[in-house]
Amino acid sequence: MSPKRKGMNTVNQSKDSTRSCGKKKTTAKTKKIKDVIDWDQYFMGVALISAQRSKDPETQVGACIVNSNKRIVGIGYNGMPDQGILGNDKIFPWKKVPKEHSKHLYVCHAEMNAIVNKMSVDIRCCTIYTTLYPCNECSKLMIQSGISSVVYLEDKGFTRPEYAASKLLLDKADVKYCKYKPKGDTERLLKALGKL
Ligand SMILES: [Zn+2]
Repeated sequence: MSPKRKGMNTVNQSKDSTRSCGKKKTTAKTKKIKDVIDWDQYFMGVALISAQRSKDPETQVGACIVNSNKRIVGIGYNGMPDQGILGNDKIFPWKKVPKEHSKHLYVCHAEMNAIVNKMSVDIRCCTIYTTLYPCNECSKLMIQSGISSVVYLEDKGFTRPEYAASKLLLDKADVKYCKYKPKGDTERLLKALGKL
C-alpha cells in the first residue's frame, strides 16, 4: 500500500465533490441556481440593510451608490455626526421638537453619508439607490457630485417644500429618478424587516 500524502483527502474532496464515508461513494449533485436576484433588487437590498443601522426612531433610511460597472462605491444611513464625538446620540436629539433643537438641525442623511464616505474619487454618472426620496439638501449634494440617476423605494409626497424643491433641482439638473417596485426577494426582505 502506498503511503497517504498529507492533506490528500481534502484535496480530492474539493476537486471532484466525491465523498467517501467508509461505506459507499456518493457524488454530490451540483445545484443549479436559475433565479438570482437582479441588480436593482441587490442594490436596493443593500440600501435596506444599511437603513437598519440608523438609530432614528421614526425614519430609518439607507443609501447605496453604484457606478456604471455595477460596483458599489458608497453606502450610508441617516445618523448623527460621529467623527470623534463621544456619545453623539446623547448630545444630539432624535426628536422633532422643539424646532430650535430638533434632529433636523444635526442629522446627516443617508445620501449625504454615502457621498462623503465614497470609496471612489469620482462618482459622476453613478446611480444612487435610496430607501426614501431624497430631500433638497441631499439632491444638491448629488447634483454637485455628478450622480446621474436615483432609484428610490418610498416618498413622502411632493407637497412639502423640501421635496418639491428636490424635484425641481433634479429635474433642472436632468438627474433621472424612478420609484422602485419591490418584487420577489426584495419583497421578502421588506417583510422580514417589517416594512411590508
Ligand atoms: Zn436628505
